[in-house]
Amino acid sequence: MLKKIIIFYILLMTSLFASKIDLYFNKNTINNAQTAILYLNAKDIKEPKLTILDKKININFYKLPNKNNSYYALVPASYYDMNKKIKVIVSYIKDNKKDFESIYLNIKEGDYKSEVIKVKSSKVTLNTKSKDRTQKEYKEAMDIYNTFTNKRLWNKKFILPLNTSITSDFGTKRVYNNTLKGYHSGTDFKAKVGTKIVAANDGVVVLTKNRFYAGNSIIINHGQGVYTCYYHLSKFLVKPNQKVKRGEVIALSGKTGRVTGPHLHFSTRVNSIQVDPLQLIKILNEL
Ligand SMILES: [Zn+2]
Repeated sequence: MLKKIIIFYILLMTSLFASKIDLYFNKNTINNAQTAILYLNAKDIKEPKLTILDKKININFYKLPNKNNSYYALVPASYYDMNKKIKVIVSYIKDNKKDFESIYLNIKEGDYKSEVIKVKSSKVTLNTKSKDRTQKEYKEAMDIYNTFTNKRLWNKKFILPLNTSITSDFGTKRVYNNTLKGYHSGTDFKAKVGTKIVAANDGVVVLTKNRFYAGNSIIINHGQGVYTCYYHLSKFLVKPNQKVKRGEVIALSGKTGRVTGPHLHFSTRVNSIQVDPLQLIKILNEL
């Protein structure tokens, strides 16, 4: 009798699990501007995709290297998404039928420092020429970040572009008249003019250009929606469309663009969203 019950129980559990896909985040709660990894384990499915409902962002799943029936997707939270739940809809094809499942990701407000800006807003207003230039440069950058290369161009762990101390953390809030006017969009590293800057990982250079705020800038595409950016450089040592290897010297640091002194500003984008570069590197290196 007991044996029959056990067999029945095993059959019941197998049928329950067979109909379900296994879907989970590496962490159920992240801070604003952090990235979560959504894992998906399922047999015989095709075209797994996800949509972040309120952002209308579609993100691809990719196969986990060296593992069968396992996929992952990088889910970034924007800096301005805080203290909310985002609904993620996963779709896939099984037995020629489209199926859906949903999962929530909690986003809390990160413990970012505040910096009160004392200058009058008229002092930071740009003239028409500069305004046109910054708008053009923003559009050009967004066109790059919105381009997805499905192939993963990296194999080894990500490294930092130089080994010095951090002089300004990612995410510091810029508060003007009690209003959040922006945030520090990257991590600043101490670097006197002429310090060698290396590629954080293998990839393709997609931009080398002098820009209004960022000065001499390099953007590297690592594939699967991951981009790293290096700003305020004094000298480019690579060209657009050039393939680079992890640790390869790509530039010398500098103080070009809108800066108060020499340093390297290092930033990252995932699936077009700007995220904390050090947290991104940490989770990518766990994949
Ligand atoms: Zn910076």
